[in-house]
Amino acid sequence: MVRVRFAPSPTGYLHIGGARTCLFNWLYARHCKGEFILRIEDTDRERSKKEYLDEILESISWLGMDWDKIFYQSQRFNIYKEYAQKLITKGKAYQKDDAIFFKYEFQTIQINDLIRGKIVFSQLPKEEEVIIKKDGSPTYNFSCVVDDALMGITHVIRGEDHIPNTPKQILMYKALGFKEPLFAHVPLILSPEGGRLSKRFGATSIREFKEAGYLAESLVNYLLLLSWSPKDNREILSIKETIELFDIKDVNKSAAEFSLEKLDWINSFYIKSKNIDELAKILYQYTKDKNFLPTNIDLEYFKKVVFLFRERLIKLSDFLDRARFCFYDDYTYLEEAKEILNKNLAGEIEFLKNRLNLLPNFDKETIEKEFREVCKELNLETKALVHPVRVAISGRRIGPGLFETLEVLGKDKVIQRLDRLIKYWQNN
Ligand code: GLU
Repeated sequence: MVRVRFAPSPTGYLHIGGARTCLFNWLYARHCKGEFILRIEDTDRERSKKEYLDEILESISWLGMDWDKIFYQSQRFNIYKEYAQKLITKGKAYQKDDAIFFKYEFQTIQINDLIRGKIVFSQLPKEEEVIIKKDGSPTYNFSCVVDDALMGITHVIRGEDHIPNTPKQILMYKALGFKEPLFAHVPLILSPEGGRLSKRFGATSIREFKEAGYLAESLVNYLLLLSWSPKDNREILSIKETIELFDIKDVNKSAAEFSLEKLDWINSFYIKSKNIDELAKILYQYTKDKNFLPTNIDLEYFKKVVFLFRERLIKLSDFLDRARFCFYDDYTYLEEAKEILNKNLAGEIEFLKNRLNLLPNFDKETIEKEFREVCKELNLETKALVHPVRVAISGRRIGPGLFETLEVLGKDKVIQRLDRLIKYWQNN
């Protein structure tokens, strides 16, 4: 049975690179109907933090991945000690100044990487290495080998930054008499400028992506496309289909370039493809988490606002700025919108306001008909009033269709806000 593991160290948050490694392991396990193990490599007591661990577990779950077993290396120190002792007995390790050292018996090592093909290692940077530190904690290469072997890991799928560790680990497998797993090293993710991911380009934690308003399914779909694509090159794939199609050997070996534009495109696609109830539910939770909504917000009203904005959202966070005026009256006229507010139109706006106020029904068709009629009577093009009215009711130059917006706000608010503009003109 295929058994794979994702082995994060809780010394930092889960980033794009780690999330993709996790995803590939998980997909491969689910594709092969095998097991996906989460191994928390928390051997460094100083640098491992609960806060990071919580974020890593939360992010993995939020992305939609589940694990069959979880292990914590901090609870397995006795096991590492026992195997280090075995190496000492075999004469392959020795103890000095409290620490245990492993002696590499070097030979040329060759692996058949499932992604990169044949890799030959003809030398090692050192001849020996600490495997158990003075404080009793194991070092990475050693605990990794002991655990991969004891946990029955069949495929080690990890970032290509670990390639230099692979020959050392193979020599440890040999010394311990363990069967070696297969290896698959996933390519790096580079920033669009070429180098490693920087804070500006994607080196953000998964939690930050979530907070910025990306949907889990968009991130998963994007992470997938970073280094893998289905044979027909489709770009939007559900997890279910991906599980069927994914094979680790089809992962690209060249480095992937992170592109925020692509992620944005995928995210807006997923937002648009949600039905209104689903999207309202997601946005309701999102805005609530951000303490954005006033208390006692009516859910039907919230849904109508979501409907107004859904076509234009790239990220959920776009809703916060853009739709704020639908929930609060205290918005200001944005600087770039003020130039539209031509005082000479005060009389016309007043006239329009009175006419709208008389409407028996305040639905978008009735509003639009009356709006156009008023403009005609005033000898104005419709847009001459559409633009200032938009600023009056929202503070902004750009927004969803005006008549729909007026309907959603309702007559009272619209009249109040037109009055507010007239007062503003009187005082400015
Ligand atoms: N804890 C290591 C890391 O986070 C795991 C490496 C591996 O998968 O072997 O890079």
